[in-house]
Amino acid sequence: MDLLVCPLCKGPLGHDHATHELVCAADRLAFPIRDGIAVMLESEARSLDATPPSADATNAS
Ligand SMILES: [Zn+2]
Repeated sequence: MDLLVCPLCKGPLGHDHATHELVCAADRLAFPIRDGIAVMLESEARSLDATPPSADATNAS
């Protein structure tokens, strides 16, 4: 199995088994896996920063 890398930064991707996504920690993007095939398109990626803030307060300094 080939190691998938981020199409943007060419860094290694982590596999989120819960959401079936490939996650780039550097870009804060999650690429979906559809029918067992990773969709390595930035336009299809989900921004991890879109998650609602919980404990972390906005740091505008
Ligand atoms: Zn990346």
